[in-house]
Amino acid sequence: MNEARTTAERSPLLEVVNVTKQFGDLAALDGVNLAVHPSEVVAVLGPSGSGKSTLVRCIDLLESIDGGAMYLDGELLGYEEHRGHVRPLTEAGRERQRRRMGMVFQQFNLFPHWTVLRNITEAPVRVHGVAPAAARERALELLEKVGLSDKADAYPRHLSGGQQQRVAIARAVAPNPRILLFDEPTSALDPELVGEVLQTIKALAATGMTMVVVTHELDFARDVADRCVFMTDGHVVEDRPAAEFFSAPRSDRLRGFLARSS
Ligand code: ADP
Ligand code: MG
Repeated sequence: MNEARTTAERSPLLEVVNVTKQFGDLAALDGVNLAVHPSEVVAVLGPSGSGKSTLVRCIDLLESIDGGAMYLDGELLGYEEHRGHVRPLTEAGRERQRRRMGMVFQQFNLFPHWTVLRNITEAPVRVHGVAPAAARERALELLEKVGLSDKADAYPRHLSGGQQQRVAIARAVAPNPRILLFDEPTSALDPELVGEVLQTIKALAATGMTMVVVTHELDFARDVADRCVFMTDGHVVEDRPAAEFFSAPRSDRLRGFLARSS
């Protein structure tokens, strides 16, 4: 009880306030609110086209928003102060803010001509200015954590989809992001490879990493997420502790979704 209260009172690591995003006439996000506290794991569920990818892409500054505001560690995302005025980020400013977030996509997008090790060390060395030896040491540590110690010198084409996604997760974690965003990390995988990737994400959650995970894996959401968010048509319809979300859905839309998906 006390613990719950302290958590609620701590300020959010990520805050999304009344965010809107239009694609032409379509409101892909229509006033979305979301708060994610340190070490929280939030699962985002909902039917195809409900705005889940758009939400995480806006947070990661891959899409610009049309209204509302987003804060990471209290800093306004997408804008910066310049001579006493607030202006949209320059490209350098955008890269600086993006460095504090890690993103894992459905398609792992590893660089095919680089070894696993270089895929993981490239950003820390080139973007974050980490010394190559230190980046290498950290990458090897992370590879051990995702169970791929023996693949450091392999090329992506020699790995299974599940192994490639575990490398992509290590790559996202390597620069020590404040938050990790996942957009359906297991949707491109053969069913028999899904478990190993979910297990990796679960292990990462147990280390206290703050995460927003868009997923269709209901059992995973129930097992790993602290909170579940249900979206339809660009709206957050329910945002509840995971146990209640599944056992006592409030809206007909969520009840129907859970019935169809399980
Ligand atoms: P989800 O990830 O929940 O399946 P998306 O966020 O991908 O949903 O899409 C939300 C809505 O926005 C959908 O109707 C989709 O067709 C539309 N949309 C997404 N990206 C674009 C884009 N780049 N241009 C136009 N429409 C888009
Ligand atoms: Mg999507």
